[in-house]
Amino acid sequence: MEKLFATEKTERLIPKIREFVENELYPLETVENLTQNFSHVAKTLDEKRELVKKAGLWGLQWDAENGGLGLTLCEFGQISEVLANNPFGHYTFNCQAPDIGNMELIHKHAPKHLQDKYLEPLKEGNIRSCFSMTEPGFAGSNPTRMGTMAVKDGNDYVINGHKWFTSSADGAAFAVVMAVTDPDAAPHRRASQIIVPTDTPGFKIVRNIPIMGHASDHWSSHSEVTYHDVRVPQSNLIGGEGLGFMLAQERLGPGRIHHCMRFIGIAERSFDLMCKYAVSRQIDEDTFLGQMQSIQAFIADSRAEIDAARLMVLRTARMIDEFGASAARDEISTIKFYTANMMLHVVDRAIQTHGALGMTNDVLLSQWYSHERAARIYDGADEVHKSALARSILKKYGLDVKKKK
Ligand SMILES: Cc1cc2nc3c(=O)[nH]c(=O)nc-3n(C[C@H](O)[C@H](O)[C@H](O)COP(=O)(O)OP(=O)(O)OC[C@H]3O[C@@H](n4cnc5c(N)ncnc54)[C@H](O)[C@@H]3O)c2cc1C
Repeated sequence: MEKLFATEKTERLIPKIREFVENELYPLETVENLTQNFSHVAKTLDEKRELVKKAGLWGLQWDAENGGLGLTLCEFGQISEVLANNPFGHYTFNCQAPDIGNMELIHKHAPKHLQDKYLEPLKEGNIRSCFSMTEPGFAGSNPTRMGTMAVKDGNDYVINGHKWFTSSADGAAFAVVMAVTDPDAAPHRRASQIIVPTDTPGFKIVRNIPIMGHASDHWSSHSEVTYHDVRVPQSNLIGGEGLGFMLAQERLGPGRIHHCMRFIGIAERSFDLMCKYAVSRQIDEDTFLGQMQSIQAFIADSRAEIDAARLMVLRTARMIDEFGASAARDEISTIKFYTANMMLHVVDRAIQTHGALGMTNDVLLSQWYSHERAARIYDGADEVHKSALARSILKKYGLDVKKKK
């Protein structure tokens, strides 16, 4: 934990949250829970959610007016790290993607009738949601190009399209769908975000896509979805027509802090597992793994990389808190690729330290190794962020590199 960014609220909350995660959630790290579909553990997690509410720790991301704790992004990020020490932490505290992003979006940009219908039950954890933007037929790295169309008909939109990697669609009550509403507008003004209840005729989950050998279900699903003549009222529009791309960008600023602090939480727990194993595994009668120079290098490199990443992310969170996300654009790109890679390096070293045990589901590491590889792809692939950062830097040196080539 980084003391430099501690506040009265983090000092008060983090020990309580850490205790909850360790006492209530660490015992759920069983082989069954880690290898079976998410629905296997969902009911138990719902019971844990009730305990979170009773402990007064529900709604961490909300301001006081909305029944939350009024944390800054920098404060919430530090809590997010602790929740990420366990694979069920964010879900249990109702801070999980994509719901946290959808809650923010609807809170800030949806009209009151949509907030009443969708935001309130989401905040209570009574329903789940998903965000449906990426399509198999178009490069997700350039979301200004997409095939899904929403055409006006009377008071409705009629939506047709094919999406995939709509995370958590399985069992969600509604999807926030990105669809083209004006194909003739400038690329960044073509698409809009529209709420589609998943029980609307024409909304179909084709499959939960297997990820590294396991499809899972419920919140942990990534679905392929088709929209066939899906009819919803035009009043389901979020924010205004043509603002879909702008809203998606806005969502990504705080969203990347949430993801990066989650990556740091995973790295920190992996580091802890690596160190515990290094001092307990004996090579012979008087030699422990931790006496090997190569393992010492794993530990030292990991410590330095986690600490560097945390400082970068919390500094960026504080910049967003004080100056807004657009002022921290370069920093947001930097933390996304740096922290995702840092996490994967640390998890990999921890697996290597554990030998064959590291490959099993008896420890958490293999779960993170397979599930978190995607961190270098979603919310902007590494290459896209590196290119954006380098272009911004080169511009200051007088070279205006166009985005395309
Ligand atoms: C586990 C997981 C969960 C996801 N959840 C969601 C979700 O809930 N909702 C949703 O809508 N989407 C989701 N996605 C999709 C994700 O947003 C896209 O995968 C991402 O935007 C990349 O798009 P793509 O897969 O089409 O890759 P492409 O755009 O086809 O890119 C392929 C590769 O090309 C390279 N590349 C692309 N552009 C550039 C560039 N400009 N410069 C250099 N190299 C480049 C990168 O290496 C990139 O990985 C999820 C993806 C994963 C893996």
